[in-house]
Amino acid sequence: MHHTTAQLEQLLMQRSLTDAQLLEAAEASADFRILPDATVLKIGGQSVIDRGRAGLFPLVDEIVSARKDHKLLIGTGAGTRARHLYSIAAGLNLPAGVLAQLGASVADQNAAMLGQLLAKHGIPVVGGAGLSTVPLSIAEVNAVIFSGMPPYKLWMRPAAESVIPPYRTDAGCFLLAEQFGCKAMIYVKDENGLYTGNPKTDPHATFIPKISVDEMKAQGLQDSILEFPVLDLLKSARHIRQVQVINGLVPGNLTRALAGEHVGTIITAS
Ligand code: ADP
Ligand code: MG
Repeated sequence: MHHTTAQLEQLLMQRSLTDAQLLEAAEASADFRILPDATVLKIGGQSVIDRGRAGLFPLVDEIVSARKDHKLLIGTGAGTRARHLYSIAAGLNLPAGVLAQLGASVADQNAAMLGQLLAKHGIPVVGGAGLSTVPLSIAEVNAVIFSGMPPYKLWMRPAAESVIPPYRTDAGCFLLAEQFGCKAMIYVKDENGLYTGNPKTDPHATFIPKISVDEMKAQGLQDSILEFPVLDLLKSARHIRQVQVINGLVPGNLTRALAGEHVGTIITAS
């Protein structure tokens, strides 16, 4: 059923904001995507950036040539320095919201470094990434770098069991892709994709080319290659209905994934 703005307003003024009929009316309008042609890349912190030049230089070359054909929002992970900070702060029993700010500062550092590498190509780092200069950069140079941590800061929703912030850079990049209605979300990490176990410690782990969120959970893989809350974000997303996890240490993988090839693991919402 199509609702006019006036009908929607009437419902909104009278009902609870979670009223079923109101929600249905709010859902009825046509889909709208803010940056439908852009792809969000997450460059892993521990898995890629912490490797320094060996991990980053080949990827930078691929990004520079890929952005001729693709619009890229490039988010950075945090990694080992964040884990070090978390270990100290968790030892002091500081809350998740404080750890979230500490982790964000490391993702910021990584964005600053990646920004230096891409500066001569005109690709800027934007603070916050909440639109502001993002569309201009995308229009002018087809790419922009942002710090991947979601800006919840002290308002980070804490997990029940620990002070480690549950929504970190995998989630931050996913949410940006989803809110902007982007074309694709690609996680660039250091393994070929998802395996039945951690390939760094389990020699019998086998590769999984494609899997749904429910299948991942059924196989006990919810806490593996992506931060576990991303799976629920993906399952209830309206735009990003699948994500791809690729090995960014293999030259050409990023280029092929951007071209729509099935490299790595595709995780689907349903
Ligand atoms: P990022 O650098 O983006 O934060 P992480 O290091 O947090 O990435 O996550 C990637 C790592 O997840 C891989 O290097 C791998 O060691 C680990 N991992 C754990 N379980 C799995 C699994 N089942 N399949 C693939 N990788 C896994
Ligand atoms: Mg991680």
